[in-house]
Amino acid sequence: MRDVVIVGSGCAGLTAAIYAARANLKPLVIRGLEAGGQLTLTTLVENFPGFPKGVQGPELIERMQNQAAEFGAEFMEGYVIGVDLSLRPFMIDVGGESVEARTLIVASGASAKMLGLESERKLLGHGVSTCATCDGYFYRGKEVAVVGGGDTAAEEAIFLTRYAAQVSIIHRRDQLRASKIMQDRLYRNPKINFIWDSLVVDVLDVNRGEVTGIKLMNIKTGGETIKSCDGVFMGIGHSPNTSLFRGQLEMNEVGYLITHDGSKTNVPGVFAAGDVQDHIYRQAITAAGSGCMAAIDAERFLEAET
Ligand code: NAP
Repeated sequence: MRDVVIVGSGCAGLTAAIYAARANLKPLVIRGLEAGGQLTLTTLVENFPGFPKGVQGPELIERMQNQAAEFGAEFMEGYVIGVDLSLRPFMIDVGGESVEARTLIVASGASAKMLGLESERKLLGHGVSTCATCDGYFYRGKEVAVVGGGDTAAEEAIFLTRYAAQVSIIHRRDQLRASKIMQDRLYRNPKINFIWDSLVVDVLDVNRGEVTGIKLMNIKTGGETIKSCDGVFMGIGHSPNTSLFRGQLEMNEVGYLITHDGSKTNVPGVFAAGDVQDHIYRQAITAAGSGCMAAIDAERFLEAET
């Protein structure tokens, strides 16, 4: 039986692993489907403290993993297909193999929603991005498109106007879903324009390995056009990876885990960290910070039991 099992190997899970390992708890990290989390989908990270020249997202994750391993954390490939949190030890089913845990840290993250286009997947990190805060800086003086009409798209678009010469919001309807205040900000911003009733049906140009434009289809007329741009940001929302915990852990109406008193969930001994419980900040550094909190909470929980 494990003292601490961590589900997820992004910033939150790995930071929890570093802290739990340094507390001699020999944590087991289950790496999951999107091993390394969202940072592995980005390129240069320039806002993580301690790296004045920036650091590549995948390298930052590798360093965290090495740091956790250095102190005794263990890693398991595979992903969790079931959990039973009704009794302790908790049972975690990792692809058919059972793992027993005295405490569990859920750091399974959130995945940015994507359109599902092959070209989008191929150009991810090469002009297609899901994070303006991470990648906006690279578009100084350039033209970018933001897909979506909600608050995420609005925030991304407004952030991008700091750098880009022009930001086009591509929305599939003719009305924004974003909150009124965000809509006002969008309409007031001279760098932002709107392309309504339009779906992105292709991202160009896979052959060149960079984004040169997007192919749009007007859903009212069926007509297709090409909008040239240097980057495209998917702002169609995030989904927390929590379906596994439905009915066992409290979550809000869109599936983010609810925590209280730090990282505690409604089940004693189960803690949550990172984007799986945070739809507001969603930064590498805040995820890391909450991973630290979860490990400390787990350590104190185990201490109190003994
Ligand atoms: P959201 O409100 O669900 O909006 C997603 C947007 O993407 C919608 O406009 C939707 O179009 C569009 N969309 C979804 N799937 C699409 C697809 N396959 N193709 C094209 N367009 C697609 O998600 P969100 O913006 O991430 O916001 C989620 C929650 O977090 C909201 O409650 C929001 O208020 C909150 N949030 C708040 C802030 C803030 O306050 N600063 C920032 C971010 C998020 P339709 O409109 O046609 O459905």
